[in-house]
Amino acid sequence: MKKYFLPVKIIFGEKSYQKLFSELEGAGVKKPLLICGSHFVSSFKYKDFEEKVPVFEVFTGVEPNPSTSTVDRAASLLNSSQCDAVVGIGGGSVLDAAKVVACMHGFKKSCESFYRKPPHRKNRVPFFAVPTTSGSGSEATRYSVLTRSDGSKKTLRHDLFYARVAIVDPELTYSMPPEVTAATGIDAFCQSVEAYWAKTATPQTDAFAAEAIGLAYHSIFKAVNDPDKQARQNMSLASLCAAQAFSNTGTTACHQVSYPLTRHFGLVHGFAVAITLQWFLGFYSEKGGKAGEKCLEICRLIGAKTIAEGREKLIGLLSSIGAPTKLREIGCRPEDFQKIVAVCLEERPQNPRKHTKEDIERMLAEIC
Ligand code: NAD
Repeated sequence: MKKYFLPVKIIFGEKSYQKLFSELEGAGVKKPLLICGSHFVSSFKYKDFEEKVPVFEVFTGVEPNPSTSTVDRAASLLNSSQCDAVVGIGGGSVLDAAKVVACMHGFKKSCESFYRKPPHRKNRVPFFAVPTTSGSGSEATRYSVLTRSDGSKKTLRHDLFYARVAIVDPELTYSMPPEVTAATGIDAFCQSVEAYWAKTATPQTDAFAAEAIGLAYHSIFKAVNDPDKQARQNMSLASLCAAQAFSNTGTTACHQVSYPLTRHFGLVHGFAVAITLQWFLGFYSEKGGKAGEKCLEICRLIGAKTIAEGREKLIGLLSSIGAPTKLREIGCRPEDFQKIVAVCLEERPQNPRKHTKEDIERMLAEIC
């Protein structure tokens, strides 16, 4: 038996941002806490927000790969200003922070405690998610990836983190510079590939993932190098479809390896995930059976007939958007491998093939 669960009202399309205001009104929100990126505050859409929402508080201090202490500071504002909802408008970092803040109404401890004990419904206010990148898909997932006080990135997972409403308006992504378009877009592509080969995939997640793989593969180059309305729209839809897939399957080893690459070498999240994707395509395909079939289907979705050709195409895709394809390009050397290996050994049940310490060491040596 297969289960699919995604309790989020999703509104997609150009100009759908305007729907945010009727959704807030419909939910009886009196004073939301707006958590947003500083790029948003200087946009016309922020002026719209000021005009249409009579009373609100704003928090703009969320950094990329947000820390638990940032979430705690935003939660203090939620509580001291007596806001009754959280609106997150930004990339995955803003949305990941905002969805946790929305579970901290009247909550006195740090959000780090959620790693030990899950949030409680009584501390939750409605959360409205509006992405401004086409990448993380955080608007439609129950995950929040935070940087803990010890410096490690770790995912919190809970159904209370789902947004009440997600509004995905491609227009909000138009202001992304090429590097952000590339890093966030390749994250969406990787998430759809990982959802497709995951052992937890279902017919529903396969349909969303396949759509996202095709859309992202064929649109990302244009979106990065010469963006037009269609390319932006395709990438927003790809990101949303990827989320509708991996929200249920989870992500696989590429994400496990990405966190230490970001932590120790400052590699942006999407590039950190993508750098190992072609290697894992080979590794999972070697298992044969269902995993092998899925890998071959992924190759076909990007126009390759064999795994070897698929791996070449993935390397070409990364190069075409300015992403690194070798670890040496980010300053990672063999003497650094152990700090990566050490945090990749946790077993993720969705990984299509189990990896050992030696597999990860071999992978790092081969892509160095
Ligand atoms: P991001 O949110 O970190 O944003 C990257 C940069 O782009 C930031 O400086 C931001 O201010 C800027 N930016 C965002 N939108 C912009 C716009 N429209 N115009 C100009 N600048 C803009 O990037 P992201 O890739 O969206 O999110 C990455 C984070 O999301 C990571 O921490 C990652 O771990 C997390 N993540 C979460 C999930 C999930 O399901 N919760 C999934 C994947 C990734």
